Amino acid sequence: MSSEFDLIKRFFTKPTDHTNLGIGDDAALINIPAGYELVVSTDMLVAGRHFFPDADPYQLGHKCLAVNLSDIAAMGATPRWVTLALALPEANEEWLKYFSEGFFELASKHQVDLIGGDTNRGPLNICVQVMGVSPERRALRRDGAKVGDQIWVSGQIGNAALGLAHLLKKIDLNKEETELALAALHTPIPRIELGLALSEFAHSAIDISDGLLADLGHILECSQVGAELNFTALPKSPMLEKYIATDLGKKCLLAGGDDYELCFTAPVEKQTEVKAIAKALDIPLTCIGKITRSGGISLLDPLGHPMPISQTGFDHFGL
Ligand code: ADP
Ligand code: MG
Repeated sequence: MSSEFDLIKRFFTKPTDHTNLGIGDDAALINIPAGYELVVSTDMLVAGRHFFPDADPYQLGHKCLAVNLSDIAAMGATPRWVTLALALPEANEEWLKYFSEGFFELASKHQVDLIGGDTNRGPLNICVQVMGVSPERRALRRDGAKVGDQIWVSGQIGNAALGLAHLLKKIDLNKEETELALAALHTPIPRIELGLALSEFAHSAIDISDGLLADLGHILECSQVGAELNFTALPKSPMLEKYIATDLGKKCLLAGGDDYELCFTAPVEKQTEVKAIAKALDIPLTCIGKITRSGGISLLDPLGHPMPISQTGFDHFGL
């Protein structure tokens, strides 16, 4: 079996773009340009909790980086560097080959340098730390939402949760739907360009990792405001539309995790800019409601009547 150093060299050491000293020393060295803040986030994926232990390694390599890049996107920042701490049950070279391919394909797309990490034997666990830069005081935070702001969501929500429901055999999607739902679940697309464009004027943002209601709830709490949401405006796929009358369908839409779309708030006067960004980036952006003075989230039906909210968050594997 190859040594830890061999494996790191073969699978994880790639030329870097903007790093003074990368993999191979006790620590990496990077420069933060003057006038920028360092934006740092970490997210761990644990086998049996965030993914099935026999998950496809290429998709895992993509996803462990994608969920981290999504946090940088939600801050409106540019990702630059990443570290990778791995616990592996065995040194399976084929697994590492596909895992690193999935990881580096996404990393090179966003010019992110892998600059270090740690490799150990243990129950499969993947911990990524991502670092990015943002001009001082420009980052999109959770505490900036203002009364009267429009609330927007990118893409469609609920597809990843439908995919999980399908894998758990709670529903039976057809072939085409399965492809769409499993792509949302296994290979989410971090909305980096969108976050950067929004950082020019949006008041607040978050990425949807735990479900719309839970994540929007974080913005409301941090900003000390409330929200009115129009249930019918929530952007969903035709596949989710089929289930929308059921509890499971509603739960996927309102509380389904793992979508990694952005939810953000912006002043009404900026809606032309928001629509221009949607067009330029070819990403659907949907206004789903508005920020109110207080009172948590009220969900309105098409007649403007409040709907009960029993679904508030996403329980891993527990749809
Ligand atoms: P140390 O014992 O000083 O912590 P290691 O032997 O763990 O160093 O790692 C050697 C080098 O390889 C370090 O530069 C470390 O950052 C890098 N490294 C270890 N594991 C990984 C990994 N999974 N991905 C990327 N770099 C790694
Ligand atoms: Mg070490």
